[in-house]
Amino acid sequence: MNKLITTIIILSLILLGCKDAKHHESNSIEKAKKVLLKKDGYEEFFYWELADEKSLWEFELGDVKALNQYQDSLKLELGNKIYESAIKKESIQNLEKSLIEKEENGDRINALLVHTGSIGKIRKINYLESQILNYQIKRFSMFSQPTEFHGFIAKNEEEGIIRVYFGSSNTEWPPKPAVIFEKLEIEISRGWKLKGHLHNHYCKKDKNYVGILAPSLADAQYYKMLKERFNLEEALITNGFNTVAIENKDFTKFESH
Ligand SMILES: [Zn+2]
Repeated sequence: MNKLITTIIILSLILLGCKDAKHHESNSIEKAKKVLLKKDGYEEFFYWELADEKSLWEFELGDVKALNQYQDSLKLELGNKIYESAIKKESIQNLEKSLIEKEENGDRINALLVHTGSIGKIRKINYLESQILNYQIKRFSMFSQPTEFHGFIAKNEEEGIIRVYFGSSNTEWPPKPAVIFEKLEIEISRGWKLKGHLHNHYCKKDKNYVGILAPSLADAQYYKMLKERFNLEEALITNGFNTVAIENKDFTKFESH
């Protein structure tokens, strides 16, 4: 009898586990409605449309093979110890605040503003961010051919719909997203809100690959423009492990071009 009860409990746990996995799959970007805006060679602009489910913003990741492969490649290349410390270095927010005054380089000041805990919050990469990054690094490996993308996360609160406007190419810099801006302007006038702008950071081999979780001078300037033009609420930068989230009230506190 006891055995039977144990078996039933184990089976229910397995079934519950499966249900969870399915729930995630149903909101995966691979299965989302995808609407093409422009394609030119490797350059592409489109949006995905998804139901605004709670799981999008949570930290249990779904099937993100390319991201897992990227993490494995880094671990192999760096060795466990350097791998762990490179991730940790970009996740801390407890550096001495006095370091900021001593720094003269604008990009490094921005990094210190985040890593001293003065601005922004560093947390784990969430489900939606990992799906977006995984799409791009499946096209071009973040390890051997790193690229940056634009991901504009818009929300229609009334209808409970999320759209991720995405732009990328095969180059280190993302292409200028003029077609996305045209679309955003229309959607925002119809009541959509620009909740977030996500992009990825990576480093070269000499800096142990793991991307800097802070805006560059150019990023900070871009965020100010996005706030002015589209009332961007939050800037998000991910390195595939963690993400820094910056509220729009703090955009002007960063050094910018
Ligand atoms: Zn950047």
